[in-house]
Amino acid sequence: MIVVMSQGASREQIDAVLRKIEEFGLQTHPIYGVQKTVIGVIGDDKTKVVETMAGYPGVEQIIPILKPYKFASRETHPQDTVIDISGVKIGGDKLAVMAGPCAVESRDQIINSARLVKLAGGSILRGGAYKPRTSPYSFQGLGEEGLALLAEAREETGLPVVTEITDARKMDLFCAYADVIQVGARNMQNFVLLTEIGRSGHPVLLKRGPSAKIEDLLLAAEYIIKEGNRNIILCERGISTFETHTRNTLDLSAVAALKKLSHLPVVVDPSHAVGISSLIPAMSLAAVAAGADGLIIEIHPNPNTALCDGPQSLDFETFTSLMTRIRKVAQAIGREA
Ligand code: PEP
Ligand code: MN
Repeated sequence: MIVVMSQGASREQIDAVLRKIEEFGLQTHPIYGVQKTVIGVIGDDKTKVVETMAGYPGVEQIIPILKPYKFASRETHPQDTVIDISGVKIGGDKLAVMAGPCAVESRDQIINSARLVKLAGGSILRGGAYKPRTSPYSFQGLGEEGLALLAEAREETGLPVVTEITDARKMDLFCAYADVIQVGARNMQNFVLLTEIGRSGHPVLLKRGPSAKIEDLLLAAEYIIKEGNRNIILCERGISTFETHTRNTLDLSAVAALKKLSHLPVVVDPSHAVGISSLIPAMSLAAVAAGADGLIIEIHPNPNTALCDGPQSLDFETFTSLMTRIRKVAQAIGREA
């Protein structure tokens, strides 16, 4: 439930309400707004709050939150959340385009990719250092060396970096190297990992699992936000369906639905959604038109030699021309890119 404080409620009144709710053994999450403060209340038995808090000084309203996800829901936080990643805003008027190779392979490969992303107008560099591969015999990533190369690419271009974590025990390492920690589709319901990321407060890109419902994704986000970390970017990356032509099926309706249900920014990964490079430009433009706050796209200096996800990686020329078209669609719907 949320306790809505009245517009003129004083800090003392807000603190008194927080103390009282906590005395009942419940968790409080205050959101101090410009106009009003609202207090999220989490816990099993909230009847005492309803009984005692109505009519408490400064309390305007007590609203039950019907959705199973509470802090991720728009009911709790009607305004869009805008996340600041070292100066790059995600969730505002300007779209954020993240791009880079699936995996960091070498210094040349990642530095050249970073330079190209910057030149084409992208705002965040992606690159995997620890790769969750289906086969244990496939290239697993460069590990910590890959993280260090990403940091070098950031140094060189000023682009923040997003990279995937696969093991909660490596949390400190990722906090040291990454601007945004990616939780991959396979780990969307790794609740220990989600809780650790929540506690770290570090910005996170949370991908939808291939068989996860929209509500499952929002409940995964709830694991993070409940620990006090609101810096969550949701990502639609395609779901498993009966269709086998594409790698997954891009669920663009999820973008519109997530924007309605949640205040968190939503980005689309057309690369893992379709898995075929020639289809990615069209799906990128469609995602922007559908209201995505950004895109995450795989590119490679030479997709034919990529150690991971080559068939879905755009070459530099295609990505550069796609960026021009993304800007046009963004402009047509009243946004910038
Ligand atoms: C990736 O971003 O390279 C990746 C493995 O994505 P996903 O978790 O969506 O499959
Ligand atoms: Mn990939």
